Amino acid sequence: MVHDLIVVGAGPVGSLLASIVAEAGYDVLLCEEHKIVGEPTQCAGLVTERALELAGIGRESILQEISGATLLGPKMEKIHLSSPRKKIYSIDRVLFDQTLAVRAERGGAELRLDTRIKSIEVRKKRCAAHLADGNIEEARYVAGCDGPASITRRAMGIGPPMSMLSGVEVEARTEGCSKEILLRCGRGIAPGFFTWAIPAGDGMVRIGLAVEPSMSKQPAKRYLERILNDPALLGLPGSADSFHVERWIGGGIPLGPPLNASASHMLLAGDAACHVKATSGGGVVMGLRCAGHGARAIMDALDHGKGLESYDHMWKKDVGGELRRDWALHKYYASMDDEKFSWAFNILSRPDIVKRINGLGDIDYPSRLVLPLLLRRPGLLRMVPGLLRGYVWP
Ligand SMILES: Cc1cc2nc3c(=O)[nH]c(=O)nc-3n(C[C@H](O)[C@H](O)[C@H](O)COP(=O)(O)OP(=O)(O)OC[C@H]3O[C@@H](n4cnc5c(N)ncnc54)[C@H](O)[C@@H]3O)c2cc1C
Repeated sequence: MVHDLIVVGAGPVGSLLASIVAEAGYDVLLCEEHKIVGEPTQCAGLVTERALELAGIGRESILQEISGATLLGPKMEKIHLSSPRKKIYSIDRVLFDQTLAVRAERGGAELRLDTRIKSIEVRKKRCAAHLADGNIEEARYVAGCDGPASITRRAMGIGPPMSMLSGVEVEARTEGCSKEILLRCGRGIAPGFFTWAIPAGDGMVRIGLAVEPSMSKQPAKRYLERILNDPALLGLPGSADSFHVERWIGGGIPLGPPLNASASHMLLAGDAACHVKATSGGGVVMGLRCAGHGARAIMDALDHGKGLESYDHMWKKDVGGELRRDWALHKYYASMDDEKFSWAFNILSRPDIVKRINGLGDIDYPSRLVLPLLLRRPGLLRMVPGLLRGYVWP
């Protein structure tokens, strides 16, 4: 039997894409290599209201509404941000992923767990997916939503991401958990990226960080252990003994400027295509947006017997500019030493700038803040050549 579509990976992006296509009446096979959808988690679970809207599911995965954020610099310089109108949540990622997978099944997709796809080839206008158990499944199209180490990406002949951050996090129980996020940057703290503490409801906090491996002297886990041994490094109250670690998670965060993510019979969405904001490592909202575009391109191709090239046009028009600007911001940020961070904190902590960030800031579209801030504080203009370099030369 030849399916209309095989989706590789039942993460949030694969399940949403499978739902949309299956709900329209097409034959969809959704393959997930793990026995349980959503496990193991590789996420801090911080999303905006948009993630829930795009997923088209209820609010049951929300663990905690976030009330604000404190950004800390290398010398513990502080910027406090709060924007009550913009809803940001920490969610239960396992439940979020599972709810989306249930939506796909209810919509008519066949969800096959414990089913790893080893390789994919296109023969005679059909895609043949070779499963790890030796079986072969065929489909007219394949959507690769198989995360940072995508095998679909390889099958399409696309090279690895420009950068793969190494992320690690613990979920720890503690008393007197705040409703705010803490973020700290600095070369000695998390080279090339930053560290975070995100409340996750019911006395839980997610403490984690990501590092740029090429800039790090030790594995990401060592940097996190330093913070767990001395929580004050991240501005957390209490001693190491006041955090009871319940689980460790980790994973790669693929970054890079947008590439083409389609071939005649295959496309990539989500982490597999680096649909991730390089400023924050957040990929849920961008990935879900691209899942919608992918589903539309596939249904159009199924109806009219054509290729998937329109997909690239759709997702680039929607989020390609933001992703490219975020990549330039990331490259600039990763090149900053602690002195430069302190200089930036000094400017960004001024009340008029904080007001602007609170008013205009949107964590799903961070680059939209750049121009208003440059216009407000011409001192920041010295960043422009570096930003342009990152934008023009990936
Ligand atoms: C430490 C860390 C913290 C993060 N925090 C946040 C955050 O707070 N907010 C946010 O928005 N993003 C965050 N992210 C990023 C976010 O987790 C990803 O962007 C998001 O999960 C992407 O969804 P996806 O469906 O594309 O891929 P994934 O969630 O990775 O799902 C891919 C699925 O494909 C399956 N799969 C892979 N290969 C195969 C195969 N060959 N055959 C069958 N199945 C396969 C996998 O098992 C997996 O279930 C974080 C990432 C890390 C590592």
